[in-house]
Amino acid sequence: MASLTLSRRTVMASAGALAASVAFDLPVGIAPARAQDAPVNQNPGFYRYKVGDITVTALNDGFGTRPLDGFIRNAELADVRKAMEAAYLPTDAISISYTTLALQIGDRLVLIDTGNGDSGAPTSGAWMNNFRAAGFKPENVSTVIISHFHGDHINGFRLKDGTAVFPNAEVMVPAAEWAFWMDDAKMNTAPEAAKNAFATVRRVFGPIAKDVKQYEGDKELVPGVTAIAAPGHTPGHTVFAITSGKGRLMALSDTTNHPALFVRNPEWTAIFDMDGPQAIATRRKLLDMAATEKMQVAFYHAPFPATGHIAKAGNGFELVPVQWSSAI
Ligand SMILES: [Zn+2]
Repeated sequence: MASLTLSRRTVMASAGALAASVAFDLPVGIAPARAQDAPVNQNPGFYRYKVGDITVTALNDGFGTRPLDGFIRNAELADVRKAMEAAYLPTDAISISYTTLALQIGDRLVLIDTGNGDSGAPTSGAWMNNFRAAGFKPENVSTVIISHFHGDHINGFRLKDGTAVFPNAEVMVPAAEWAFWMDDAKMNTAPEAAKNAFATVRRVFGPIAKDVKQYEGDKELVPGVTAIAAPGHTPGHTVFAITSGKGRLMALSDTTNHPALFVRNPEWTAIFDMDGPQAIATRRKLLDMAATEKMQVAFYHAPFPATGHIAKAGNGFELVPVQWSSAI
């Protein structure tokens, strides 16, 4: 089956570029494409579930990989490796997946974060395929809500060539995030490596700066979606309570990176946490609340579909995935 698919794809690709007569002269036994030429995603990565009357669609944007060494600021590498081993994950590098949310709320189509667009690792960038496969169109997005300004959350909003991906959407961003990343003095005094992050924010939002709606924490942004300030990971990092009827979901954004490390060990801080102690306090508070109140949670960097419940375990917590369901 694989070789049939590959040769048909090859013929079709050639037919686009060359005259049809040339395309049909292709040898049948042509070498298959190399494994690394295969598309990033397997089947389309979207998963739907309900929160009351709101339909939530988790949309996968592939993954990025980082060496484990140096990933956590305040833990011994041997202990980090043990945690990875306990989760049956590799002990040299970590794959960090990206999952955004699309919410159908009445007639509105609301996105929480936008993925990497065409600016991420080659193993990312699956978002638009998955979004379309889920039956959505970019022009139908009414609101884009941003949790914080790291590139893996905002680059999908604008392509590298400047194209706005969601032409009809209003954009809502945390006011504290805007104040920090748009501050020229902070950019100019930032370490060289961090200057890129400031440049990314300006590239993505600069052209629409006057139209961006800045929101404060603890505010209902659209019906059923309430922002909750969750600083530490970044100054304006925000999580969202999504409520409808009896349904409640806490979209935890980057309250933790991979749950096998940081839900299990909430005192560990990833190198992306800008204020480590504050990130730890926020993480403990929110995970404890989710466990106590038995709320369903969604993570940006958990294994797909990145949703489940939080249970107390040892000195930390664990993520208990939801049971996959074919029914919405
Ligand atoms: Zn992130």
